Amino acid sequence: MDTNNASHHRGLMLEEPLVFELGAAGRTGVDLPEPEDPVEDRLGGMRRKTPIGLPGLSEPQVVRHYTRLSQKNYSIDTGFYPLGSCTMKHNPRLNEALARLPGFADIHPFQPVSTVQGALAVMAALVQWLKALTGMEAVALSPAAGAHGELTGLMTIRAALEAQGRARTTVLVPASAHGTNPATAALCGYRVQSVPAAADGRVPVAAVKERLDADTAAVMLTNPNTCGLFETDFQAIAEAVHGVGGFCYLDGANFNALVGRVRVADLGVDAMHINLHKTFSTPHGGGGPGAGPVVFSKALAPFMPVPFVRQGAEGFVLAEHPRGRAIKTPFGRIKGFHGSFGVWVRALAYMLSMGIDGLRQASGDAVLNANYLRARLQDDLTLSFPGLCMHEVLFDDRFLKGTGVTTLDFAKALIDAGFHPMTIYFPLIVHGALLVEPTETESRETLDQFIDTVKALAARARAGEEAFFHAAPRHTPRRRLDETAAARYPRLRWRPRNHTNGLKE
Ligand SMILES: *Cc1c(COP(=O)(O)O)cnc(C)c1O
Repeated sequence: MDTNNASHHRGLMLEEPLVFELGAAGRTGVDLPEPEDPVEDRLGGMRRKTPIGLPGLSEPQVVRHYTRLSQKNYSIDTGFYPLGSCTMKHNPRLNEALARLPGFADIHPFQPVSTVQGALAVMAALVQWLKALTGMEAVALSPAAGAHGELTGLMTIRAALEAQGRARTTVLVPASAHGTNPATAALCGYRVQSVPAAADGRVPVAAVKERLDADTAAVMLTNPNTCGLFETDFQAIAEAVHGVGGFCYLDGANFNALVGRVRVADLGVDAMHINLHKTFSTPHGGGGPGAGPVVFSKALAPFMPVPFVRQGAEGFVLAEHPRGRAIKTPFGRIKGFHGSFGVWVRALAYMLSMGIDGLRQASGDAVLNANYLRARLQDDLTLSFPGLCMHEVLFDDRFLKGTGVTTLDFAKALIDAGFHPMTIYFPLIVHGALLVEPTETESRETLDQFIDTVKALAARARAGEEAFFHAAPRHTPRRRLDETAAARYPRLRWRPRNHTNGLKE
């Protein structure tokens, strides 16, 4: 930071204090009449006696504060976002416009169903699309995200096993799995048994078979897996787990590579979540609402959670109680109200505007773009596993060996060069992973710019410019933060510096 500069601003990047640190007591952007005196106390003696401590700000101060904060966001709308496993693609504005239609945006979950037949029709149509794309029997729309879908899937598997008399004890999870997979299994009370990957990055059926027994509740696989590789033994693994009476869960976060090409029912899947916010057009990454509908096989459908839409004689109805179903589920709902309705509207709008041919082309282009990056970067970085990849490509840090530069340094240097880094250090099964997912919405020009930048950085690392990498990033408002401490010990409460009563004077 430039110490000769009192503002700490730099190159039109403005230092932004908290809103509470701005302004002055008594300043205001609105002109309200003084309250009548004495105001009758209708609060039963609970009236505040000390100042509330709100910042005193003019309208332009408020506008500038929030506009500056908004400009600190890096987003898919501002640039390439090659985060592997996240499917950060462009979300067509059409879908946003449709989700904001008052008939969708202004309805309430407690409205009588006779007044929201259109909304229920949207849900029913989305269910039809998800069934058609996966070949599965039933859909639970309500889970709010991928991890929540996993929880729904495993709770449903557990319910089905309990109905047979025994919940069993173990869930098999590949070593390459996303962290939410073992976490979900553990949360459902299962012991997690890890399955190592073979030398080609895939889960071998033999390694699964060795670990299967009468205590196996399920195997959780990801396909394509987190190395960006199609699990070629998937069907054989599903058959093997069915052979011992267990279930096959598919983590469908990478569905972007399969849409319109693989009907997962044909692979032997019993349950799979679909991250609508990854594959089917909802902005994500900022903590906004997502949706993780779960598709189920015939064997699991009777155990899935409510609510779901049914077509009755008088129109659509919402089945909201497990009562009356063939077999009762031990859990009725997985989510308050019905789920992330706005995300469903976006997903359906996306599906209808793309058409099945468009969706099929999207998955093809996603795989093509990843393979373009693979082909052009494999001599500069080290490809973790040989051969074609699916929608993302995995490199590791062997190309940095002996340079003194780490994967983290390399990612920070990419920021200085104007690119959001790829996912780093995931998956864990390779050393210093760099996982790149370009998605289908990036142009050849953007990919070429990225490739040229990565090539130039790799050359600088090989040329011994260790210090350059260790000093990166230079151009960000902050340099390197202690991210672990920030995550472990977040300071969420602001305290004024010179206060007496907890409030700013
Ligand atoms: C994103 C992701 C998840 C979790 O999904 P959320 O919607 O973030 O909860 C699970 N598995 C994989 C492979 C993922 O990429």
